[in-house]
Amino acid sequence: MSYLFPTYNRLDIELVSGKGAKVEDSNGRKYLDFIAGIAVCNLGHSPLPVKKAVEEQLNKVWHVSNLFQISQQEEAAKFLASASGLDAIFFCNSGAEANEAAIKLAKKHTGKTKILTFKQSFHGRTFATMSATGQEKIHSGFGPLLPAFEYLPYNDAGAVSEIEGDDIAAIMVEVIQGEGGVNPGNETFLKEVEKKCVELGALLIIDEVQTGIGRTGAPFAYQHHELNPDIVTAAKGLGSGFPVGAMIGRKELVSTFSPGTHGSTFGGNPLAMAAVKATLETIFEEDFLIGVKNKSGTFIQCLKEKLEPLSFVKEVKGEGFMIGIELEAEAKGYIELLRKNGLLTLPAGPNVIRLLPPLTVTEAELGEALGILEETLQAHEKEAVR
Ligand SMILES: *Cc1c(COP(=O)(O)O)cnc(C)c1O
Repeated sequence: MSYLFPTYNRLDIELVSGKGAKVEDSNGRKYLDFIAGIAVCNLGHSPLPVKKAVEEQLNKVWHVSNLFQISQQEEAAKFLASASGLDAIFFCNSGAEANEAAIKLAKKHTGKTKILTFKQSFHGRTFATMSATGQEKIHSGFGPLLPAFEYLPYNDAGAVSEIEGDDIAAIMVEVIQGEGGVNPGNETFLKEVEKKCVELGALLIIDEVQTGIGRTGAPFAYQHHELNPDIVTAAKGLGSGFPVGAMIGRKELVSTFSPGTHGSTFGGNPLAMAAVKATLETIFEEDFLIGVKNKSGTFIQCLKEKLEPLSFVKEVKGEGFMIGIELEAEAKGYIELLRKNGLLTLPAGPNVIRLLPPLTVTEAELGEALGILEETLQAHEKEAVR
């Protein structure tokens, strides 16, 4: 019997070591890891610069409270500010916490109560972020939810243009819905959301917990659409596996979070900040991101050419290394077959195979993954036809 709450459907596999995009399980079986801890290990497993930075900090001091100066926080914050074009950062420990901070800041700053989010969104598992998430299966059994949230259809610019009311504090949106099925937001819709926020005096909160930190080939995914968010949240890839989250805000919001309004015991501790600094130093390099764009562009093109002709494949979609293969059928069985053939992938919604390789994945590894995907899905096509 297990001593753990069964909150996850765990595979009967334990990954015991990893380097780059390759991992090995306790039976010595090797895999290509296109899950990367769910968009966390953006520099691959055990990236040397991050390892060195954390080791150095381990030899100095691990944790001091936010009652003291922590210069590493200032340095890490500067990276996020300059990459986002925003002004101030609050550090916490997870994506949900970053969104919690955003929700609190938006309500306090505007003095308004309502937050609009979208169907099939995912914003976290705490009470407020669960309430913000537009998926019934995630709410089930926990009602009544917080009353502040209302859900609009995603990618429906018309529905957004009809929003009215003077009680809306913010609209919170993912540029590409991750957990909801790798659904890229279209330009018209995203621009309409931005326009509506300006019109209503509401803040635009962009949840970049999954899409941020280079995942889509830009520091943040909203930069592909030249949006001007008031608040951006990040977490997954931020610390290369060290648990850390960040809320990034515009300067007009800074004084709203005065001492005593928000906080976190662990948020921004020196160990986490060492991991963040070393991670961002590499990922926010222009050449690194150009590399991600080029590699992923070719890979997506190849996936489209090889997989879209298959009868049960609907569409290959996504941006950078956040890729979804949408099927006419349930994705679960195919993900299992891919795993048996040595490629780790994960679902997004019921019908999508999601690929989130490390951004450092090599051309050779991409070729290998393409081969496994092609062979596995083609074999199934033959079965189906027969
Ligand atoms: C994963 C995720 C979250 C929640 O992050 P946690 O670190 O699990 O709390 C929030 N928003 C998005 C878009 C995510 O993908």
